[in-house]
Amino acid sequence: MSTMSDLNSSTQSDRRALVLEGKDRLTLRDYDLPETLGDHDVRIAIHTVGICGSDVHYYTHGAIGPFVVREPMILGHEASGIVTEVGAGVTTLKPGDRVCMEPGVPDPNGRATRLGLYNLDPAVQFWATPPVHGVLRPSVVHPEAFTFKLPDNVSFAAAAMVEPLAVGVHAVTKAKAAPGNVAVVIGAGPIGLVTVLAALAGGCAHVIVSDVDDTKLEIARKLGSVSTVNVARENLAEVVKARTEGWGADVIYECAGSEKAIAGIFEPLCPGGVVVFVGIPLHPASYDVSAAMVKEARVEHVFRYAHVFPRCVAMLASGAVDVSPLITRTFPFEKSVEAFKLAATSPKGEVKMQIEMGLPG
Ligand code: ZN
Repeated sequence: MSTMSDLNSSTQSDRRALVLEGKDRLTLRDYDLPETLGDHDVRIAIHTVGICGSDVHYYTHGAIGPFVVREPMILGHEASGIVTEVGAGVTTLKPGDRVCMEPGVPDPNGRATRLGLYNLDPAVQFWATPPVHGVLRPSVVHPEAFTFKLPDNVSFAAAAMVEPLAVGVHAVTKAKAAPGNVAVVIGAGPIGLVTVLAALAGGCAHVIVSDVDDTKLEIARKLGSVSTVNVARENLAEVVKARTEGWGADVIYECAGSEKAIAGIFEPLCPGGVVVFVGIPLHPASYDVSAAMVKEARVEHVFRYAHVFPRCVAMLASGAVDVSPLITRTFPFEKSVEAFKLAATSPKGEVKMQIEMGLPG
């Protein structure tokens, strides 16, 4: 274990960052990003960063919807690290603390923030969403209020999974799922699989996961009481009916953003059940309102998450959730361009790829 002064000196000498220069142009180079430490901020040496579908999409498309990469931008928003410096007003963290960070910082005075809906604040500053830089760089300054101390038994790799896990936990929270429920999760990508973990931790008796990729479904079956459906070969609604004595699933989490799945989303649902839209469709998608009415379905939508990071950390610490089967590959920082090139091919069998910045621990 090195000292904090080692970390400070290494962060000062090393200015390298993974910079998206524009569509399809990614370089690992020196990038000066002076950040001043406010009274309620902490400085964090970055340890591990997960590669997210959104990072890859900015790399391959240069934009997501209205967010366009116009200036060089550092990628990465799923991160853990070590506190190296704290502002004068910081009370809950100290240098040496291992932490994970919530990447979206809202305006504390915004109306949505004051209502508790800070994820919906139009002024939110979210890492690696243009024009805000991400954290594939040696260090970052971040508010204490969005930085969470890790218990000793939570690894940096698991902590860098808190950000995607938070999406799943937020979805299950919105569903108000009850113990003993049967859930369907559509899509076995990283967000689908963290939603499976969150649903099981929330007391779900069984989760039926659908996808078209058998290797991803195989990983899903390792997560607990899970059965799978390959919708390239089988009909989801028929399989769900067969596995629920004709009743249907209590909760359906749509995590694929699939227009086809959304069009028939109420078919596998039980009367009085709930559908939660988690995956973002690339194009406008529509569902059948009358199909929802005859089941008096409740419909929820989620955008990122709010107020769930502490619960995610607590579940990793207690063992209620184990994210390790989802972390399928780890790259050193020097190989990050290579890592993104691989991620852009959507390799079969890979769920979450992570990059280690080279800190000790
Ligand atoms: Zn992400």
